[in-house]
Parts: sequence; C-alpha cells; structure tokens
Amino acid sequence: MRKLKISKRLSESLYKSIRDDKWLLSRLDHLWTNYFGSVKQVNPVFIKFGRHSRLRLGSIRLDSINKNSYITITGMFKDPRIPQEIVDHTIAHELCHYAHGFSSPKTRLHKYPHHGGVIKKELEARSLHHLVVAYAGWVKQYKRNLR
Ligand SMILES: [Zn+2]
Repeated sequence: MRKLKISKRLSESLYKSIRDDKWLLSRLDHLWTNYFGSVKQVNPVFIKFGRHSRLRLGSIRLDSINKNSYITITGMFKDPRIPQEIVDHTIAHELCHYAHGFSSPKTRLHKYPHHGGVIKKELEARSLHHLVVAYAGWVKQYKRNLR
C-alpha cells in the first residue's frame, strides 16, 4: 500500500489557508506598512476575529480606560471562500477610521466617520482602488444572497 504523504508545499498552503487572529494581524501589518505608511501609530492597536456577523463586517473602537484601539473583523471571514481582498478591504476601511481620528487618539478630520464618501476617497488616494473594486463586486452578490 502506498503511503499518502503531504508535500511540504501542500502543507504550507494548508497552513496559509488557516485564518486566525495571527493571520489577521499579518494582513493588518501588510496593509499598514505598504499603504498606510504615512499614518503614524500613536497607541497600541489590536485586531481579532469577532462573532459571526453577516451585516457588521468590521468595527474599530477606542477603549476609554487603556486608550488602546481594537479592530474586530466578523468571524464569517474565517471562511477561506471569502476572497482575501474582501478581508483586506474591511481592515483598510477600519484603518481609514483610525487615520481620520475615529476610535483613535488622532485629530478628528471629519464630522462623521463616513462623511461624503471619505473612506472610498482615502482608499483610492492610498492606491487601494483594487480593493474598492473587489469589494463592490463582492458586496453586490452578497447582498443579493442575504435576501
Ligand atoms: Zn466604517
């Protein structure tokens, strides 16, 4: 009988498909380093998967006691069938809030967090147009399936 052996490459790709909080942190780190480099981190920022929410994909809050910022991503995104661009878009969206002074100690740049399409503008200005496009396509189908 032939023994089934998982190749190193396959086991690595299996490992990569595991989405945990460590993986989320690596995505946040990637986005911050490559696209939000001009946004100085002024307090500790944490990221984790939250409960499985179908409507709230991500959120950021500032703890009033310890002054840390906490980003929570819906547990639904642990599913590898959700494209990575959609997870990245959600993280980048929360990073825009951070940059704009919402749920971060930074100066508030707008009256409201989603004022006049500021998030989309920010993403475009940071060369993240590809995420905006990926998300627009995905969310259209997703909302259709919600009904
Ligand atoms: Zn938002």
